[in-house]
Amino acid sequence: MCNFKQIKFMKFISHLAFIFILFSTCTLAKNNSDKFFDFSYDESNDKIFLYVDKIDYEFMYIGSLSSGVGSNDIQLDRGQLGSEKIVKFIKRGNKLLLIEPNQKYRASSKNNSEKKSVEQAFAKSVIFGFEILETDMGVYKIDLTPFLMYDRHGVSNRLKETNQGDYIIDLSKSAIEINNTKAFPENIEFEALLTFTGEAEGDWIRSVSPDPNFVSVIQHHSFIKLPDSKYKPRAFDPRSGAIHISFMDYSVPVDENINKKYVIRHRLEKKNPKSKISEAIEPIVYYLDPGTPEPIKSALLDGARWWNEAFESIGFKDAFQVKLLPDDADPMDCRYNVIQWVHRSTRGWSYGASIVDPRTGEIIKGHVSLGSLRIRQDFLIAQSLLKNPYKNQDISNEMLEMSLARIRQLSAHEIGHTLGFAHNFTSSTADRSSVMDYPHPLITLKNNEISLDNAYAKGIGEWDKVTVAYSYSEFLDGQNEKV
Ligand SMILES: [Zn+2]
Repeated sequence: MCNFKQIKFMKFISHLAFIFILFSTCTLAKNNSDKFFDFSYDESNDKIFLYVDKIDYEFMYIGSLSSGVGSNDIQLDRGQLGSEKIVKFIKRGNKLLLIEPNQKYRASSKNNSEKKSVEQAFAKSVIFGFEILETDMGVYKIDLTPFLMYDRHGVSNRLKETNQGDYIIDLSKSAIEINNTKAFPENIEFEALLTFTGEAEGDWIRSVSPDPNFVSVIQHHSFIKLPDSKYKPRAFDPRSGAIHISFMDYSVPVDENINKKYVIRHRLEKKNPKSKISEAIEPIVYYLDPGTPEPIKSALLDGARWWNEAFESIGFKDAFQVKLLPDDADPMDCRYNVIQWVHRSTRGWSYGASIVDPRTGEIIKGHVSLGSLRIRQDFLIAQSLLKNPYKNQDISNEMLEMSLARIRQLSAHEIGHTLGFAHNFTSSTADRSSVMDYPHPLITLKNNEISLDNAYAKGIGEWDKVTVAYSYSEFLDGQNEKV
């Protein structure tokens, strides 16, 4: 972190290209030049100042929860993503306004007047206004603290909607989480501890809060550089099994559908596009929460890695990888696709969410949340199916094996959503052809006794290879994607 004078100094020096002076006199200034935005922290006032040197420059913003409430019914989970927005700072008078242009209505024409006519026709949203505190050489200093302390994730609304009470943020009990506030070349991550105060009315919030009149969570904010324009959107087809984004394009010819749809998918390109089998320029890497205990950890890794076979079937080698998240990495950092093991007071949903570029459908980050009580419920199901379930260790192992087999499926399923794939609720009756179903345990009889050996399928299904082929196959220049 640097102060404003250091940043001005850095810009002046870099303009003159005296790079050696930069290295030798100001390490902080050198670091600043690598950051997506610069910021400083005033500890005596608990304030974050942002130094905005990019005006009319679009980037992505997302607010999320890094620390949640822990109730499945309220649904404010650890690691829960909000909705992504493309935003930009614009300057008006002594203010910088953070504005969200409208992505739902567009003109893909190269004619700027045509684009402008659509831009002016639909509403935009200014999501925050900042007073400019200092200006120099095109850098504007603003106080970002009120933005970080705003209930961006909608915690108050959620508590109200679920009849838990009327809560408002108490700033005297809220603060910046400076240790988890970090800047990188293509993203900057902020965190703030927010305390919501109110008269608790619901049992759910009472059951998960030490003092239900004071509910504290940690809100995370990411400013993310938009990906480059080399990514090519892929048209959606209802037969593809893909999840899609959509928008209205007023430039398309009259005889074409004005509603455009693109599949959501990660960027994946072969190192050698002409080779039948090639490694990827950048593989898709997912990172598992290191807080997951064994033997669950190994089962989740196994299930997640099944997807690599589907990528192999379209000629990618090691293009889909799963590793443990390093201890010093932040799961909310937008650079990591993560699989989080999420605890709640009762059994709840697992889900796969993604941060998606709304212009193209490119997935920036996949974020899988797996409810930790699920495996205990699967164990109870197995227990209810077996004869003399408390009899001996072999039976206990059989129950555990069935539970682990189910969460291998769960791991693959939720990752599948974050790779861009929708449900397939018929696949269990079609030779278990997809992990994107909700599989029931398949019970067989062995020596007239119930056997759980084949309760859940192992590995990726044939349908999953079809969906991967549709969304991720690479086409050479001149090849027609549509045929
Ligand atoms: Zn699902």
